[in-house]
Amino acid sequence: MDRLIAIALQLGLADGFDYPVGPPDGAGYYDAQPFGGGHAHLGSDWNGVRGGDSDLGDPVFAVADGRVSDTGDHGGGWGNVVRVVHLVRDDDGPRVVESLYAHLERIDVRVGERVARGRQVGTIGTAGGVYRAHLHFELRAALGRPLGGGYGPPDAQVDPTAFIDAHRPRVSPRTSR
Ligand SMILES: [Zn+2]
Repeated sequence: MDRLIAIALQLGLADGFDYPVGPPDGAGYYDAQPFGGGHAHLGSDWNGVRGGDSDLGDPVFAVADGRVSDTGDHGGGWGNVVRVVHLVRDDDGPRVVESLYAHLERIDVRVGERVARGRQVGTIGTAGGVYRAHLHFELRAALGRPLGGGYGPPDAQVDPTAFIDAHRPRVSPRTSR
């Protein structure tokens, strides 16, 4: 945890948030299982509009400027996971949030690396064949919590789409494409 606080303290303020696929606005993708609902899903499941595994290997992008805090294959229902720490300023002052990108086919960043909004962090995968290809995406208001089950009572999770929509950049979009 000390390491994560140190990472956060080195960050500049993120200037805004874009969608993790089809940036800046998620064009070409839909959220097949939004945050919450009857199954208490703790993230969004981004899928390509063409269906099936047509989105396998599509790029996944950092939603905001930040620093990579975790990468690795967690197996089971998670597969390859990337986490990025961001510093944001709200009405109550600065705070940190963590974006989490799961089931990736490939990881394209390293722990400690500084990433800009729109930087590719990996590609859409199947968690090693567990699912049809999609991106499981979470935003958390605390750093370095256990991954958990992806479902259950929200702990530090926030509604990712509502958060992004409330923190859109004021400047023109950037992407690595
Ligand atoms: Zn999911």
